Amino acid sequence: MTQFHITPPAPVQTALDRLNAAGFEAFVVGGCVRDALRGAEPHDWDCTTNAKPQQICGCFRDFHVIETGLQHGTVTVVIDRMPIEITTYRIDGVYADHRRPDSVTFTDSLTDDLARRDFTVNAMAYHPARGLIDPFHGADDLQCSMIRCVGNPQDRFEEDGLRILRAMRFASVLDFAVDPQTAAAVRRQKALLHHISAERIDTELTKLLCGKAAERVLTEFAEVLFAVLPELEPMYGFDQRNPHHDYDVYTHTLKTVAACPPEPVLRWAALLHDTGKPHVFTEDERGGHFYRHAAVSVEIAERALKAMKCDRKRYDRVLLLVEKHDLVMNGTEKQIKRIVSQIGMDAAEQLLLLHKADVTAQAACHRAERIAESDRLLTVLAALREADACMSLKQLAVSGSDLLAAGVPEGRAVGTMLHRLLDAVIEGSMPNERDALLAYVQEQGDQTGNA
Ligand code: ATP
Ligand code: MG
Repeated sequence: MTQFHITPPAPVQTALDRLNAAGFEAFVVGGCVRDALRGAEPHDWDCTTNAKPQQICGCFRDFHVIETGLQHGTVTVVIDRMPIEITTYRIDGVYADHRRPDSVTFTDSLTDDLARRDFTVNAMAYHPARGLIDPFHGADDLQCSMIRCVGNPQDRFEEDGLRILRAMRFASVLDFAVDPQTAAAVRRQKALLHHISAERIDTELTKLLCGKAAERVLTEFAEVLFAVLPELEPMYGFDQRNPHHDYDVYTHTLKTVAACPPEPVLRWAALLHDTGKPHVFTEDERGGHFYRHAAVSVEIAERALKAMKCDRKRYDRVLLLVEKHDLVMNGTEKQIKRIVSQIGMDAAEQLLLLHKADVTAQAACHRAERIAESDRLLTVLAALREADACMSLKQLAVSGSDLLAAGVPEGRAVGTMLHRLLDAVIEGSMPNERDALLAYVQEQGDQTGNA
């Protein structure tokens, strides 16, 4: 792994050159080196240097410099509109609270800076003229797809409990294994996650859920997930005793997660959609049943998402999808139009994608036909979108003011009439045409003596 060459984008090269010209060492470091080495496009480029923060600022006087992380040695320099984080080599002090160092000390040693980083694959530095600096053999671990702590895993997790979840996140996103010693410490020290803020856990868990290997990682480390979301534990191993299901509730859940597009709302909805099942289980001669489980899942999802301090937009959408995930789909165009008119086009599409993932994770015997039916629903929806079919008040050929002008009395009657018109258009009993809709309004008015 010594032959490769990384070409950082021009603004990053400028940053390295500036620091070098002033007599400092400077390297790209961390995630960008990892990603470039495995042939993926880095999404940001961080630099590390022996220049102290004030010296960094001095090198970039003619650029926009953001000094937000100055006490920790981090300065953000904007070059050609690209923000580049430049951090002074540092050693972290004692971690009394298991989440952040009480102090940081600047150092002249790049190796010391790399040693404070979490995993070997994240602890490599690179300079176009000096090549790879890899004292912890991250390149070897990258080659064999392995997440391994730098140093003793037990100590590293003691310092910062979030690393427990970061190990799982990188294993999921990169589809890597976790080295056995690191994995054992992940499990053993999961309680340290209780010291970590909800927002940081949410960030890591969301990335983990959207990773390629989310199903495998959450199977291998289920107990760690339950340490942060105890609401999910009753699903574990819960036998559904139902011919529609080959898997226990937890396994089915993870397969649903994996079958959803890797997008936070969908993957969270998939994770939470069946959480209510173990609480409503009943059994008769036909097998196990989970009547009203969606409503209980919503209550549990509310608690789980609140505990994660998840943002309002994701909270609302995930709950909506969990609530409606079990809607019986007859698959008619009218039904799909009705769903869109109730929850909007984007949510309807997510609901159908979740539905498809859900059936993908059910019993093998009906899987193919159910997936085909789900695909058909998605095609119907796409055609409706393409045709700009009328499914909302906004798209209706008449507006509230048209109705007022036509003599509908001000107040609730306007809204009621608009909804009645929309229903009629969706049911197909009326075309979405201004004249026809106004004629209907007139007719109704004549009947009630309003108009
Ligand atoms: P990505 O940005 O793709 O999520 P990344 O590796 O850049 O991955 P960041 O969270 O942006 O991850 O962190 C940048 C680097 O800082 C990491 O590569 C690692 O070297 C170091 N790092 C980040 N968080 C920690 C931590 N909690 N403990 C130790 N080192 C960390
Ligand atoms: Mg990063």
